[in-house]
Amino acid sequence: MHPSKYTDLAFQKCINPNCGAEFDCAQVLFKCPTCGDLLDIWYHWDKIEVPGKLSEFATRWAGRDNPLDLSGVWRFRELLNFCDDKYKVAIGEGQTILQQNDAVAEYVGMQPGRLYLQYEGLNPSGSFKDNGMAAAFSHAMMVGAKSCACASTGNTSASVALYAHSCGLKCTVFIGSGRIAFGKLSQGMDYGAQTVQIRGDFDDCMRQVQAVCTKLGLYLLNSLNPFRLEGQKTIMYRIIESLRWQAPDWIIVPGGNLGNSSAFGKAFYELKELGLIQQIPRMAIINAAGADTLNHLVNSKKLSWNGGQVNQAIIDQYYSELTARNFSPHTCASAIEIARPVNLKKCLHAIDVCTGVVRAVTDEEICDAKAIVGKYGLGCEPASAATIAGLKQLRAEGIVGTNERVACVLTGHPLKDPNVTVDYHKEKRGPFSNPPIEAPNDLDQIMKLIR
Ligand SMILES: [Zn+2]
Repeated sequence: MHPSKYTDLAFQKCINPNCGAEFDCAQVLFKCPTCGDLLDIWYHWDKIEVPGKLSEFATRWAGRDNPLDLSGVWRFRELLNFCDDKYKVAIGEGQTILQQNDAVAEYVGMQPGRLYLQYEGLNPSGSFKDNGMAAAFSHAMMVGAKSCACASTGNTSASVALYAHSCGLKCTVFIGSGRIAFGKLSQGMDYGAQTVQIRGDFDDCMRQVQAVCTKLGLYLLNSLNPFRLEGQKTIMYRIIESLRWQAPDWIIVPGGNLGNSSAFGKAFYELKELGLIQQIPRMAIINAAGADTLNHLVNSKKLSWNGGQVNQAIIDQYYSELTARNFSPHTCASAIEIARPVNLKKCLHAIDVCTGVVRAVTDEEICDAKAIVGKYGLGCEPASAATIAGLKQLRAEGIVGTNERVACVLTGHPLKDPNVTVDYHKEKRGPFSNPPIEAPNDLDQIMKLIR
């Protein structure tokens, strides 16, 4: 054990209210050893000097030569105060922007000035995962980890591999065979991680990595890791920061393993509890139709948080149905191609906290929305565009008002998955396809083609 001076400021607690077991932050657990449920990080807020107003965090900008003040995660460090500064890892994460985008607003049917895109693809490894890794690797340093591992649909492996070599940790990433976007696969190899391709899908990888980590004592970096979600809370702080310290009316987020939605719900719950925001935004979580477990369980089976008394029988029954029909999720949005999301219960809590809604969108809708974000914004990977497609649906249903202030979280960079982009444009898959034109090697004919 490596006791930290901050250990008495935070602790790990089982999310199951019937258990509620508590553990020191210096313990490496990832699941409640008493009942097997997920763990959350809790804080003794009365012992932490949290600013009285969120706007006080703006003073950190003056100290940007300090990597912790520059970091888009650690400049909010009082709100995720689980370890001493000396363990904190920062490699430039969270230098992201919130862009108001009226062209995309028009596409989804919103008034100008009301739609914002949060570009998490601007992180060092090109996805939102870096927020969580900054926090989780800090915990890994705090407990003295030497090797780490993760299962991944791609973005996690890229981010883990980057942070692992930055921290001097050995790193193994597990990916499903043939189910990873090219850009992401290239990153893990380039950053020096040992890459193990398992013949199976993400859910198979997830099972294997947990077993390997337990048997070999590797530090696990999947979103089961509650410290990762603490880092991901900061995406919401930065959206509020960009809106001059006001919360939006809606947050729209893709739903895969449900770590982000869980983290965002926790962020807002804590901010409200601390009196730092007046109103908790509503949240919409968008599944891909080919991996729509959350949508099915919440909308068809009416599964809910229910004060922590989640009806596990509904989940178990659905998962056995999936097994019985040998179901494997399928969507072009590979980052959210997950049928058994590990943070399901935490996400149900977030839906409860944020009066959330869940929707599913088709791959065609995702690809069209992605083309719109590419044409009028900075671009994004397919899973990110599910937010725009989902918002379009929620606008059509009248659930999101045309004049409400909405922030869509674009989780990954467009170069993460060039194959989907090239296929959409070159094979004219949708109304926004912009295919290359074949031209003879002849100046006159080439000039005639220029529009
Ligand atoms: Zn427990």
